[in-house]
Amino acid sequence: MKVLIVYAHPEQRSLNGSLRDVAVRELVAQGHEVRVSDLYAEGWKSEVDRGDFPSLPVDARLAVAAASKQAFEAGTLTADVKGEIEKLLWADALILQFPLWWFSMPAILKGWVDRVFAYGFGYGVGEHSDKRWGDRYGEGTLAGKRAMLIVTAGGWQDHYSARGVNGPIDDLLFPINHGILYYPGYDVLPPFVAYQTDRFDEAAFGATAERLRERMRTLATTLPIPYRRQNGGDYIIPSMQLRAGLESPGARGFALHLDSAHEGGAPSKPGAMRSTADLREETA
Ligand code: FAD
Repeated sequence: MKVLIVYAHPEQRSLNGSLRDVAVRELVAQGHEVRVSDLYAEGWKSEVDRGDFPSLPVDARLAVAAASKQAFEAGTLTADVKGEIEKLLWADALILQFPLWWFSMPAILKGWVDRVFAYGFGYGVGEHSDKRWGDRYGEGTLAGKRAMLIVTAGGWQDHYSARGVNGPIDDLLFPINHGILYYPGYDVLPPFVAYQTDRFDEAAFGATAERLRERMRTLATTLPIPYRRQNGGDYIIPSMQLRAGLESPGARGFALHLDSAHEGGAPSKPGAMRSTADLREETA
């Protein structure tokens, strides 16, 4: 497979830097081709502004989505953004790697998403009508490819459990896994999460590195999170609400969008499904 790692940490000699090297070495050892976008090292510009749309007339009001659409269609996005789009189209699998900062991704990585997932590429894809709300959530430009997160957190795993004070890690990562990766079509694998990382010693690092190597060895075969497809019949058009009665007993909030009916069974789309219990085990 061709694998793109988008790495967001300001220090090469960090824990994240070491884990990235572990991942790259294992992927290469498995015969995969690997490219890394090292956002800090490359001086990635994180904010969207007029400079992103050089063909926009100087006196025109900047409407970001419209400017993004126009620039993507005309091929006038900036060279750095076009370069990342080319890498995403090249890669069979995308890995976003970052330390959890304020329960989310560092700003530089969010800015990578804001700029690279352009209108017509990451969103605004497919037919938008009273019968169809575009190609998204399981369909879109990046459908058929895989994506996963590598995340380090300072907090304890218990604090991120179902009743933990930080909120469940699957909920905290839902906007990234579902909103950013599943939206443009990726099959999203369960995240790799390392906890209590600020207190890492050699033993903790060794165990985490081995767990990560195993995830890299199974990158092509790990079952994706069983998110529901938007256009698979589970949602009412045009309100896009989940049809009554489809949820598993007690499911609320983000968990509504997991297709528990396919836990361990036949998938409703190409690529197989994974149970939420399995997901929890994988993030342990
Ligand atoms: P580093 O600081 O580089 O290293 C961590 C430890 O690992 C150190 O003890 C280091 O000696 C050791 N180490 C590094 N490399 C190796 C190696 N090769 N072998 C052995 N040991 C090694 N945490 C949360 O849980 N939730 C939050 O919302 C959150 N918000 C944050 C916001 C900010 C702005 C910051 C700065 C931190 C936040 N944290 C939070 C903590 C953060 O997630 C961790 O500090 C981070 O994940 C650790 O990763 P790192 O690569 O920066 O580690």
